Amino acid sequence: MATFKDFRNSVKPNWCPGCGDFSVQAAIQRAAASVGLEPENLAVVSGIGCSGRISGYINAYGVHGIHGRSLPIAQGLKMANRELTVIASGGDGDGFAIGMSHTIHAIRRNMDITYIVMDNQIYGLTKGQTSPRSAEGFVTKSTPKGSIEPSMKPLELALAAGATFVAQTMSSDLKGMTSLIEQGLQHKGFSLINVFSPCVTFNKVNTYDWFKEHVKNLSDVEGYDAHDRIAAMRVLMETDGLVNGLIYQNKDRDSYESMVAGFKEEGLVKQDLTIEEAKFQKL
Ligand code: SF4
Ligand code: MG
Repeated sequence: MATFKDFRNSVKPNWCPGCGDFSVQAAIQRAAASVGLEPENLAVVSGIGCSGRISGYINAYGVHGIHGRSLPIAQGLKMANRELTVIASGGDGDGFAIGMSHTIHAIRRNMDITYIVMDNQIYGLTKGQTSPRSAEGFVTKSTPKGSIEPSMKPLELALAAGATFVAQTMSSDLKGMTSLIEQGLQHKGFSLINVFSPCVTFNKVNTYDWFKEHVKNLSDVEGYDAHDRIAAMRVLMETDGLVNGLIYQNKDRDSYESMVAGFKEEGLVKQDLTIEEAKFQKL
């Protein structure tokens, strides 16, 4: 049985020392091993950005795709080979700006994929511009007088789009993050896990300390029920989305691929069917 070390490779990450993405890499490796995966059972697909490098740092199948397009690639992989566990990953700029329409429709579609967003509230790779997750008033070289736009609320959008698994965690909380990724991998549907993963080089506002001070642990909210969608929406609205934990899960909805004609039992690879042939198969 594989351990987290089997998911390591020899590539040295070139993230800045202290970047939050290191912990996300470690949490994925730990979670993959603890749910019983072997490297050959896992594919990690990423988009563009500092966080997009993560697919190259994990010993598994990997695709470093194009900007904002990790989800179309991940969904194609899952449809072709349902036995593969698929993780899509990227940053807030990648997933919530150029890739936002893919994100919303992938959520709505509910394919069995785990999507991990490293949300540092800035564009790091291009040296520090305002991202859709940057707060109003946020000063960068692209908004020298402060951003005049409110920040995007991706988790509220996810709930509105029919998400079946929504969680949020912090890269400083390795244990909690690993546990949420394990739960996401085991969830039979689309799981969105947003990780507050500080950019220590360009974002001097949303630091590790800032998140520790502002983020509320859902485990401290008495009676919180992660199966109650309205309660999930309420807690996000009341906290400006600054929560840590499993926000919402619906286990009752079937995943997309389990309902597609021709895909009922196995993916295209196993059935040796083309997409055209599969279309005419009955459930
Ligand atoms: Fe991480 Fe920011 Fe450095 Fe990119 S620029 S590697 S996000 S700390
Ligand atoms: Mg970013």
